[in-house]
Amino acid sequence: MQVNRRREPAQAPDWRERAACLDEDPELFFPDDQADPLASELAAVAVCTACPVLAVCQAEALASRERFGVWGGLTEGERRQIFAPKSPRRSAARSAA
Ligand code: SF4
Repeated sequence: MQVNRRREPAQAPDWRERAACLDEDPELFFPDDQADPLASELAAVAVCTACPVLAVCQAEALASRERFGVWGGLTEGERRQIFAPKSPRRSAARSAA
């Protein structure tokens, strides 16, 4: 995981020090040139599922609108869906259902 390692330990928020992804390969969470990015995403989400700081990580990723990578158990696509504007037509269809 791409936990920010550039910060000095004294400045790092405590939750990052407890991240399950600290020792994972960053390629899992940011699978740019992978042959199978879906497999990497699934593996990253599996790491997140067992992470003790999933909730705070997810909240921060959503608050900062992280565009890339897996954060807090959410893929890029899942975060895009959360922030996608709802069209009036789509909302009406959901209300009618
Ligand atoms: S929830 Fe996932 S991305 Fe966030 S710190 Fe935990 S393992 Fe890393």
